[in-house]
Amino acid sequence: VTKIGVLTSGGDAPGMNAAIRAVARTGIYYGLEVYGIMRGYSGMIDDDIFHMSTRSVANIIQRGGTILKTARSKEFREYEGRQKAYENLKKRGIDGLVVIGGDGSFRGAQKFSTEFDIPCIGLPGTIDKDIAGTDFTIGFDTAVNTAVEAIDKIRDTADAHDRLFVVEVMGRDAGYIALHSGLATGAECVLIPETRTNIEDLIQQLTEKEKRKKLVNLVVVAEGDELGGGNEVGRILKERLPNMDIRVSILGHIQRGGSPTCLDRILSSRMGYHAVESLMTGRHNVMVGIIDDKMHYVPLDTAVKEKQSFTSDWLKIIKILAS
Ligand code: ADP
Repeated sequence: VTKIGVLTSGGDAPGMNAAIRAVARTGIYYGLEVYGIMRGYSGMIDDDIFHMSTRSVANIIQRGGTILKTARSKEFREYEGRQKAYENLKKRGIDGLVVIGGDGSFRGAQKFSTEFDIPCIGLPGTIDKDIAGTDFTIGFDTAVNTAVEAIDKIRDTADAHDRLFVVEVMGRDAGYIALHSGLATGAECVLIPETRTNIEDLIQQLTEKEKRKKLVNLVVVAEGDELGGGNEVGRILKERLPNMDIRVSILGHIQRGGSPTCLDRILSSRMGYHAVESLMTGRHNVMVGIIDDKMHYVPLDTAVKEKQSFTSDWLKIIKILAS
């Protein structure tokens, strides 16, 4: 490759800027021309593409969001859209692409690269951590730390009033943010989409603790939980436990923003470097992942198909530690 493009697509995640910086600086260091593509696949179709210098990515490693913006593109789902995108790359001689995004973005990249012979490298950018082939995704650690900080604050007020808070965290149809933040904040219980939610069990657990005057402050619910998220769980618990003072808090979009943690910055920097190295050594249509602290290259279609294996003993640990 001689000229590469970089874009961020789908849901944004803290650390994307650090990844863009790593891709741009590594590419330029090795003598490639680097182009920034605005608003994901939309900018590729609308020809919103600019030449990057090392300066273009100055002072962004610590910033949340993405300087390239991100978007969802309906047009890119159609062949005609992808063809338009290809022509815009081709007229500049761009012959490699780094896509920072989630599984939807990888599905698009996979299609695009098989149709138009542009090698694509994916970097897993999602706070949800719902991608196979990597221990961490860009943004997950920051999102979890934001959730933990917020939940700690909720616990303070919950404790002051002897209230039980049902806190809903993000994650779409994955429970990782809930599982990690729940374990880290000492939740009574964590409800996640990967396992069946036995509300009777939870009610019994809470009733039993109430009887022996154990303070219960916190239940963490993943937004994708089968009962329907925090509001629904809160409604059921209020109905079934009328003696308890129960409140619901939906953490929402604060989990997507903010300055990336050290771990996310390092992850993004390493992954960005290896994305460029991959294009230079002829790898194509793989996602760069990190497993046991080593780089792994997973075919894009595998990264999207499989879900991460679920660490099942965590729920048991949470229960025991809250007993
Ligand atoms: P994420 O990457 O965070 O999972 P999306 O699922 O919204 O976000 O995907 C981002 C973009 O990737 C979509 O707006 C679309 O342009 C493109 N995309 C997703 N799935 C496909 C597909 N099957 N074919 C072509 N493009 C797709």
